[in-house]
Order: sequence, then structure tokens, then C-alpha cells
Amino acid sequence: MPCTQSDVAPLDLTRVFDHIRANEQNFIDRLIDYVRRPSISTQNTGIDDVARFLVDEFTRMGLDAKAMPSKGYPVVVARWEKKPEARTVLLYGHYDVQPPEPIEEWTSPPFEPTIRNGRIYARGVSDNKGQHFAQMLAVESHLAIYGELPCNVVFVLEGEEENGSPNIADFFREHKAEFANVDVAVTADGPIHISGRPIIHFGVRGLAFFEMKLRTAKRSVHSGQFGNVVPNAIWKMVHLLASMKNEKGEITIDGFYDHVTPPSELELRAAAKMPPAEAETRAALELKELDQPAERPYYDRIMFHPTLNIQGLHGGYGGEGMQTIIPHEVVVKIDIRLVEAQTPDDVLAKVEAHVRRRVPEIEFRRLNSMFPSKSPMDSPYAGAIQGAIVEAQHVEPILYPVVGGSLPDYVFTKILKVPVYLVPYANADAANHAPDENLSLERYLLGIRTGAALLKHLASVDVKAS
Ligand SMILES: [Zn+2]
Repeated sequence: MPCTQSDVAPLDLTRVFDHIRANEQNFIDRLIDYVRRPSISTQNTGIDDVARFLVDEFTRMGLDAKAMPSKGYPVVVARWEKKPEARTVLLYGHYDVQPPEPIEEWTSPPFEPTIRNGRIYARGVSDNKGQHFAQMLAVESHLAIYGELPCNVVFVLEGEEENGSPNIADFFREHKAEFANVDVAVTADGPIHISGRPIIHFGVRGLAFFEMKLRTAKRSVHSGQFGNVVPNAIWKMVHLLASMKNEKGEITIDGFYDHVTPPSELELRAAAKMPPAEAETRAALELKELDQPAERPYYDRIMFHPTLNIQGLHGGYGGEGMQTIIPHEVVVKIDIRLVEAQTPDDVLAKVEAHVRRRVPEIEFRRLNSMFPSKSPMDSPYAGAIQGAIVEAQHVEPILYPVVGGSLPDYVFTKILKVPVYLVPYANADAANHAPDENLSLERYLLGIRTGAALLKHLASVDVKAS
């Protein structure tokens, strides 16, 4: 497995960076050629063509590439594994793109890439083609200068991320043995911070959805004729909901917090050093207060605490005027953002037990879920990624312990059991998923440099220090 290269002179990136500079136009032209090809997973357009295009590109670069079947669209896997003693880095990305609609809102057509004001405008240029293509060109540049890479590399590019990655977990479970050599995973996706500083993300919250339906009578009835006789479905649901979270913001379901791992000192310090966002959020949303508990710091809320969120409560009469009925039916949809090391199954079982004890006749339905994921901030890999960003971009990255939203990072931390770090290359105003999606040429070229530096720094991590 990993060897220690700390006793070897560090790789000089000057020539690799020179190569990138000398090939800027070529690299821009090739990205334009790539994003010209639509690959819209939700509309089943162009997927196979782009998977083939990638296999050809990788093969030309000297990697061993194939489009591997999955239960959905093919996963492009490309390997350079010529150093059995060296570390192996998995680079994850996705080659599918969001649908371009509404097309009339684009300044130039979504699949006719156009350069304006130092940016390429095209669907998928930032999310995610420009970012994994930058990593591919980083590999190509190393190979052009040194004829080899400082570490082993496995690219995994999936074709249905914009469709919710429904098959990537099964793909890794099924092919686990083929990824047994992987030491660390890195994803380049999403935007850098609005201040222009790069970011390293170490974790994501998980997600568990459920739905509850309650019927208290065959039909809704007259509130005078049957008031105090027929139970009101909405009152019953409201009492049930009130038993799940109190006014102080504490979730009062037995065992709900059982597996929550408190943040480390390092994570707390990183959260405290985040650029402030509370005032801006308050102003933008015209908030009079933050959610309870009032004293909790802004980023702690997003990074280190689970949520129990009522998405919607539907029942009874909400139209014009009055209708004097006792509603017989109510539906509630709830999502839970999970933090490490809660699991969807455990949490949903506890919620269901809580609910059934109080209202045994309730219909409780589990919907989608996703595990949370967190990679250690004090790992030597994290330090290496930080070093790579500084060498390539000359800026200290913001260390972001946990993203509030949910991504399938658990496939790396919980299935392959390796840490995963998200290192966005795109500009903060890349307009992902929206008309006029763009990638600044500067960010793209810095992405290639960063990708090149990542290989060097990850290869030379001293794992004995971990
Ligand atoms: Zn996306």
C-alpha cells in the first residue's frame, strides 16, 4: 500500500506548470469540444456518445479506460496504476449535465460554447465537465513532462449524478474489489467561495425522508353535529408533531441523537473561522430571528446538528371563507438532515417507534435516504490537499467541515472506506443548473494547475504521520 516518499526530493512542478501555460489555448479548445456534446441524463440524450468520447480521451492520454455498465448509465473508469508501491488517488466526477431549459433565457445556445468576458458559457461547463476535464489535463500534463505520474490514479466519472446518482452506491458495492487499492478520493465540483477563496469540504449531512398519513374517520363531518365526538385528524397530527420537537429546538424522539458524533476541536475552530454569513442571511430573508436554540452559532447549526423539518402539512379546508368540517385525513412530509454518525435506518426506526407508540394507526412511509459523511480534517491527506491548493493558486483555502446539503460522499467513506475531499474549481457565480452556466477561463486553468499539484502532494504524504 502507501509508501513514504518524504525522504525523496519533492517533485518540481515548474515544468508541469510551464506546460499548462504553453497549452492554454489547446486546453480551452478541447473543453469547448467536450461541452459541445450534450449528455443529459434526465432526458437520456447523448450519454453513450460522451462516455465513448471520454474513453477515447483517456486512452489517448495513456490510461486504461472503459465504460463500465451499471444498473443505469455507464460509469467511465480510467486507470493509471503503474506504481504498485505508491498511493492511489480516486478522482470522482460526473459527465452528465442538467437539462438546458429554459433555452430562451440563454444569451448563447447551451451547446454552442461561447467565450465572453473571460468565461466559457455552455451547459455542463462548470457542473461538472470543466472540473473533471481539468483533472484529466493535469494528468496529461504530468505524463507529457515526466512520462509517469507521482501516484496511481483512478478516474470514476458517472453518467447520472444530475439524476440523483441512483446507482453509484451499488456500482461501488459490486466492484469493491477493483477499488481496493484506493487510498483517498477527491472530487472537483461546485463553486469556490464567493470571496474568491478556494474551499476544501470535508463532509456532508445525510438525508432521510418520511411521510405520515392519518385518517380518523371514513369522511370529514359537520363540526357542530359531531364536534367533541369525532376526533379531528389535524389536531391529532399537530399533537404528534409537537411531541417530536419542543420549542427550545430540541428533537424529543427517544434515541434520536444517540449516534451523533460531536464535532472535533479542529472542526469547531474551522467553523468559527468561516466567513460570516448570518447578517447576510438575516437581511436577504428578512428574518426577525434565527431558529431555536437562539444561542447556537450559525455554522454549528448547519454543520454539526441534525434537523427535523416539516416540509408540508396538508388536510382540511384552506379555501375561501369557512367550511365547518372536522377533517378526517391529514398528510405530513418530513425530512431529516443527518449528521455523522447517524444512519437513516436507525433514525427512521426511532422516529417510527415514537410515532407508533402515540398513534398506532398512523400510516408511516419511508422515502429516500442518504448517509452523512465526514472525512478527518487532521488527516495528512487534508494537509496535502491544502498544500496543493496553495502551491497552485497561492491562496489559503477555506476549510469547510460539513456542507449542510447532501451528496453521496458516503460511497467513499462508508463503502470504499477511504476519506473523500471536495475541492471545487469553478467560480462562485458559475450559474450551475441555470441558464448562462459558465466557467471562468482563469478558474479552469487554475483547476488544471491544482489537479497537477494534488497528484504531487497526495503522492508525497507521509502516512506514518497519521
Ligand atoms: Zn449539478
